[in-house]
Amino acid sequence: MELNYSIQRSPARKTLSLKMAPDGTLEVLAPLDVSDEKINTLVQKKKFWVYKNKKELVEKKMAFEKEFVSGESFLYLGKKFRLDVTVCEYKGLAFKQNKFILNKTEQKSAKKLFDQWYKQKAKEKLIPRVDKFANQMGVTPQKTKILSMQKRWGSCTSDGNIILNYHLIKAPLYIIDYVIIHELAHLLEHNHSDKFWKIIQTQMGDYKKHKEWLGKLEI
Ligand SMILES: [Zn+2]
Repeated sequence: MELNYSIQRSPARKTLSLKMAPDGTLEVLAPLDVSDEKINTLVQKKKFWVYKNKKELVEKKMAFEKEFVSGESFLYLGKKFRLDVTVCEYKGLAFKQNKFILNKTEQKSAKKLFDQWYKQKAKEKLIPRVDKFANQMGVTPQKTKILSMQKRWGSCTSDGNIILNYHLIKAPLYIIDYVIIHELAHLLEHNHSDKFWKIIQTQMGDYKKHKEWLGKLEI
């Protein structure tokens, strides 16, 4: 079987490493002067690791596949809340008294309604937190955008925009804060240098724990 992967070269990198994105795509992080051939040899060598990780991801994804029926639970700010599908006065999807309530007549559009709800909440909750931390860190992002991203939780563009994945709203606040601080710190340091991690450390002493947590969140 052929292995597909993309290569990301950076002058800051000293060694080769493989990274699997949440959607199962493979990325090779490489220093500038390593040949495609050498990279291919590494990928072939690590074939077993790649397949094993891919298989785990697919299995995890299947387990997380939603049916949008009563009794299922959905994440919001790190907690799971029950869904009730019922004939009710609410249009579409509502979140009332710690429960999601979906109008039975709209069950077919449940996925879309949940996505819309998450996006809306992400805008409401994440943008003020970006402002708060930006203020605290003495940085000014050009713009904050909330988008759907398959492979990343957040990013900081070279022209100073902060982009956050709306699925982040499913994570606890301290995780959200970690991603925000991380991206804002890139306005000061564009790489992941020691200086960069020191900035994070100043803002959030226990950031390492949070970094790990993100790998486990299914988006
Ligand atoms: Zn980063």
